[in-house]
Amino acid sequence: MINEKRLIQEFLELVKIDSPSGKEKKITQVVSDKLKDLGGKVSIDKFGNVIGKFSAICHSERSEESLLPTILLNAHLDTVTPCEGIKPIIEGNIIKSDGKTILGGDDKSGVAVILEVLMSLRGAPSFVIARSEATKQSHTQQNSPPLDIVFTVSEEIGLVGAKNLDFSLIDAKFGYSLDSTNLIITQAPSHNKIHIKIYGKEAHAGTSPDQGISAIEILSKAISKQRLGKIDDETTANIGVIKGGNATNIVAGYAEAEGEVRSHNERKLKDKTDEIIRIFKETASDFSKEIDGKVVSPKVEEEIRREYNSFHIPDDDEVVKRVVKVGNRLGFSIETKKGGGGSDANIFNKKGIKTVILGTGMSKVHTKEEFIKIEDLVLSARLLLEIITS
Ligand SMILES: [Zn+2]
Repeated sequence: MINEKRLIQEFLELVKIDSPSGKEKKITQVVSDKLKDLGGKVSIDKFGNVIGKFSAICHSERSEESLLPTILLNAHLDTVTPCEGIKPIIEGNIIKSDGKTILGGDDKSGVAVILEVLMSLRGAPSFVIARSEATKQSHTQQNSPPLDIVFTVSEEIGLVGAKNLDFSLIDAKFGYSLDSTNLIITQAPSHNKIHIKIYGKEAHAGTSPDQGISAIEILSKAISKQRLGKIDDETTANIGVIKGGNATNIVAGYAEAEGEVRSHNERKLKDKTDEIIRIFKETASDFSKEIDGKVVSPKVEEEIRREYNSFHIPDDDEVVKRVVKVGNRLGFSIETKKGGGGSDANIFNKKGIKTVILGTGMSKVHTKEEFIKIEDLVLSARLLLEIITS
């Protein structure tokens, strides 16, 4: 049984531990100790990710839980800034921060839900039961297949923890990542990062502007021609950073822009990425001109980096059907959704571990208005426990 009080307490304790991306030492230690106390075999890989392995729990000789396939459960330990000195406040049925920081429900709620599920399955350490000793020892009487718990670091800065995870420690071929507002996400997009560098020609802005080609002008004209934002149901595009120029009295010789394209469709991703670059190049070529009797052409260089690959797990897949069935049993209907962002699940799916994303009720994440409804948090834990034990 999920213990609501214990779950809330756990969540409050976790959000109070500072853990911005790259500074997860303390939280890593705390969750490792908790997993060990619960009877897990815990490793911290070279990159700092925490992996806890739990054997099956069987309560009767007939039970075949120990033969069941291992399930992966995942959440990330890092949080976006501002996240130091978080003071969670319970107000009615929600938990929020004091307004000076984020709350950290992304993704401490996922961590808390997984720990609560383990606690409710295992109670005290002595209840970790091997198949041969399977008796009436546990007060929970719930069986469980083997579990691989993966708490990653540095998810928020480009899924870096998951990308560097020691996959040799993982047996699971499918699993659940607790890291969403929506109840279940079964599709996530691919993501290209784009870096554009524009080389114009410097000149004195007052005495000889004709001798220059402004990289800033090229950049701004090109951006004004771009189609950005929501491109279609599957695709988004954004220019998020621009830089350039050195002084007001210099025609800017250099400017750069950083942007991204995401799409659930690989062809659209490529087409949109190509279009953005083409517009920069075409705009730049319009700025070619004769200086001192010679044709000078500005130059555009591009760098495209694949951040992560999309995934799509169909609704009739067992890993999805299990969630829908359990939801129905608990009295609500579950509709699968498309996600717009990347998460550890993108990396696991790429590695062949079929992973869907489950919600914890986290809301308005990455803002100081972030909050979580207590009932949603509890529901998430009940759902996960049922998914594992059903
Ligand atoms: Zn997250």
